[in-house]
Amino acid sequence: MRLVIVGGVAGGMSCAARARRLDENADIIVLDQGKYVSFANCGLPYYVGGEIEDAGSLLLHTPDSLRGWLNLDVRTEYRVSAVDYAAHELTVETPNGTEIIGYDVLVLSPGGEAALPPVPGLAEARDAGAAVHTLRTVDDARALRALAESGGAAVVIGGGFIGMEAAEALANQGLETHVVETAEHILPPLEREMATLATDEAERLGIKVHAATGAQQVEYRAGNTESPLNVRLSNGETLEADLVVVSAGVKPLTSVFTEAGVAAERGAIIIDEHGRTNIENVYAVGDATLSRNAVTGVPGVVALAGPANRAGRLVADHIFRGNTADNPARPIPASEGTAIVRIGDLAAAMTGANRAQLDAAGVTYKTIHLHPNQHAGYFPGAKPIHLIIHFETPGGRLLGAQAIAEDGADKRIDVLATAIRAGMSVRDLIDLDLSYSPPYGNAKDAINMAGLVGSNVLDGVLELMYPEQVTDLGEDWAVLDVRSEREFGLGHLPDAINIPHTELRERLPELAELVGEPGTPGAKKLAVMCAVGVRAWIAYQVVRQAGWDGRMISGGINTLYEWYGPQIADLLEI
Ligand code: FAD
Repeated sequence: MRLVIVGGVAGGMSCAARARRLDENADIIVLDQGKYVSFANCGLPYYVGGEIEDAGSLLLHTPDSLRGWLNLDVRTEYRVSAVDYAAHELTVETPNGTEIIGYDVLVLSPGGEAALPPVPGLAEARDAGAAVHTLRTVDDARALRALAESGGAAVVIGGGFIGMEAAEALANQGLETHVVETAEHILPPLEREMATLATDEAERLGIKVHAATGAQQVEYRAGNTESPLNVRLSNGETLEADLVVVSAGVKPLTSVFTEAGVAAERGAIIIDEHGRTNIENVYAVGDATLSRNAVTGVPGVVALAGPANRAGRLVADHIFRGNTADNPARPIPASEGTAIVRIGDLAAAMTGANRAQLDAAGVTYKTIHLHPNQHAGYFPGAKPIHLIIHFETPGGRLLGAQAIAEDGADKRIDVLATAIRAGMSVRDLIDLDLSYSPPYGNAKDAINMAGLVGSNVLDGVLELMYPEQVTDLGEDWAVLDVRSEREFGLGHLPDAINIPHTELRERLPELAELVGEPGTPGAKKLAVMCAVGVRAWIAYQVVRQAGWDGRMISGGINTLYEWYGPQIADLLEI
């Protein structure tokens, strides 16, 4: 059997390696239009920033090493330019001219290309030789590193994961770095609360973030040695730059395959659960394919290395081991989109669906905010993990989670990704038996705590109020802030009543004078808050059991800070 694989990086190479392990006799040919195969695209930003010193260490294998290890026939600078599915033939442009290569089974893993947004002047500047680059290939990274080392100012168009990694790399190299992002905040898949912390950290690194702002025009002044590029923004500002990095999304690189007949939606190849396309003996994997969101079921492109690698392997299994009742092939799982990115000293991680995806899919859910320490508070170095979890109501099925922290975000999101994959409820998190000793965790880990809070919400013993609701409470409500007087003095919601939680029980009569005896006409409902929700939870129980109606502000003042960002100054009284 001759297996031909187009694309020799994540999905394609993992398919090839597995294929060889399953069949020593197969003729396995991998074609890639680039100069390199099996390279670590995820490591490219760290090479640009200088943390990875040698570009050679990003090249995990060469055609020669793959021949030696796995007897693969890997051909670089071989670009598939046409396909005849009926004849089982590919037309390939090679350094030595055009070749026709036949196949029995074809696997497509062509990935995507960095999209160039239709900003007037951008393509023209690039074509005229200006320093306008994307970050997709080893050559892109080499060019960017050389430019970064000569200093100056850079504008990164697009503040997604790769854009922010590029921005951090350029800032690390000492460039004045701007990020322009049309969405409300950088890292758009992150919830607003998480993104505020990421923005603060990016700004601490010296990156100037221009969110909710588009690049409207790029002007190239050829011959100007200093700042030859001008980027005009939608807010009227103009940024002068020596370098523009475009990181505005990825487009599936599939036209050659779809024009010949492979079915696709918005360029992404449609596959079934085994990676099969609409054409017999033609499979596809990775960034070029359409997959289903594991939580909402909504189709979309998931441009992540893990899913591409795993899908490549599963497709090889399907091809070589078949799919029979006795030996069923494992399907390619729907993706949870689990991802993590470093911003300075913080890691921002996510899994499952976010609010926007859940709202679009019409799922009913509740959200909880927690800010527990990553390990025992008494052990030196304790730092908060800012955690947000969505779960379905009324059932409690976990839907999505995000965390941002100096330490411990990765572990918590990986646990939650596993829990989502297992179809667990937020209540099940209570029972997870997670490793603990003081330098590593808490006897009740952040994950267990999330289970307890979620369970309280599902049981109705805890009703939450969210940040967007606190600005418009109306006459029926009073805010009860149970932090210490000192904390209260640093900033509190307007007209809030301050009774520290340790004094609340004996000061209930005073509270009744201020908000009305519970159960009497005109008695106000109480929005109870503290710094993170721990003291407020105790206080909330005290006032509820004393007969007042009310809610607890989810995640306390920490969540308010995260939700409102710099606008918190307009909200709080000092
Ligand atoms: P690719 O890895 O893109 O490989 C496709 C290959 O096919 C390319 O070499 C291409 O040149 C070749 N090709 C395309 N068309 C043809 C043709 N007609 N003929 C021959 N060859 C062709 N993911 C993460 O999960 N975590 C990260 O931290 C992360 N960081 C990233 C950082 C950067 C800078 C980039 C660019 C990506 C990052 N990713 C990350 C995404 C991850 O690299 C991709 O999801 C993954 O590589 C996709 O694998 P793939 O096989 O589908 O495509």
